[in-house]
Amino acid sequence: MKKRKEWRQFVPEPFSTVIIIQADFELAWAWRWAKSYAGNSPDILQIANRERKNIPRILDLCDKFRIPITWAAVGHLLLECCERDRSSIHPEIPRLGHFKNEFWEFNGKDWFDHDPGSDVSHDPEWYAPDLIKDIIGRKVKHEIGCHTFSHIDCRKDVCSPEILQAELNACQQAAARFGITLRSFVHPGHTIGNLDVLEKMGFTSFRSDYKNVLEYPECEHGNLWELKSTMELAFRQGWSMDYHIHRYQKIIDRALKSHTVCIFWFHPSLPEMFVNDILPEVFRYLADKNQVLVSSTSDYINWLNGKKQ
Ligand SMILES: [Zn+2]
Ligand SMILES: [Zn+2]
Repeated sequence: MKKRKEWRQFVPEPFSTVIIIQADFELAWAWRWAKSYAGNSPDILQIANRERKNIPRILDLCDKFRIPITWAAVGHLLLECCERDRSSIHPEIPRLGHFKNEFWEFNGKDWFDHDPGSDVSHDPEWYAPDLIKDIIGRKVKHEIGCHTFSHIDCRKDVCSPEILQAELNACQQAAARFGITLRSFVHPGHTIGNLDVLEKMGFTSFRSDYKNVLEYPECEHGNLWELKSTMELAFRQGWSMDYHIHRYQKIIDRALKSHTVCIFWFHPSLPEMFVNDILPEVFRYLADKNQVLVSSTSDYINWLNGKKQ
C-alpha cells in the first residue's frame, strides 16, 4: 500500500481528496441467474423498470450538483435491437459453461436464453440506447464504462480469455456507434479475473471489492489501474434515512482528512426513496466542499498516467 505521505501523487492540486462514483448499469441482465430471483420472474423486469425510472432522476441530480458518474454499462444495453436467427443469438460470442458463484447459479440451456431478440421499444428491460443518449447528452460530462456484454462471471476458471475478448469486442462495437471509447471496466459480481485481456483490449482501470477501503489506486497489471472500492451506496435495512446520509457524509469527511481516494459505487435500481431523499444529500455535501474533486474514472486515470513516469 502506498504511504499516505505520498498522497500528492494521487490527489491533484488544489484538492484534498478524489471521489469517483461508479454506477453498475445493467437493467435486467444482472439478475437472470441470481439465486435470489428464479430466472425470468417478473421481479427482474420490475428491477429493470425501476432502474429505468431512476436514471433520468439521478442525471438531474448530477446536473444540479455537477457530479460526473462513470456508468459501467452492460454492453447489450447499447444495442437498439438484436435478432434471434432460428435458435441462435449472438453466435459470435462463445458461451460460459454451467457455474455457481456467490450470487448466481447458471444451470440453463443457453447463457442468452432470456435475450428477447427484439428491440428497445418492445423489451426496454434488455436494451437502453435511449438512456445512453440521455447520459452522454447531459450538461455534466459523464463517462460510459463497461460491465461486459452480457454480465458474465469473469473469473478464469469460469470464463476463458476468448469469451471475455468476444464480449469486450461486442461492447466496443456497440459503443463505437455512439462515438464512445470504453476505458473503465467493472467485473460483474466482483468476479475479478482475466486482467490481461482487459489490458490488451485497451481498458485502463477496474474496480476491486476485496474489502471497503480508503486508499490509493494501484497499477500492478501493466497499464491497468486497480481502484479499490470504498463503499456501496445502497439501502441498508435497519438504517434510518438520516443515518444513511450521516454515514456517507462521514466517509467523505474521512477521505478529506486522510487525503485518500474514495470509490463509491451503486446500482441505479436502488429504491426510489434512496434517489429522492438520500442521494441528493450526499451530492449536495460533495458539491459544497471545494476541496473535493469528483471525477469520472477515465479523467482521473488520465491525470494519474500523466504523473506516472
Ligand atoms: Zn441480444
Ligand atoms: Zn453487475
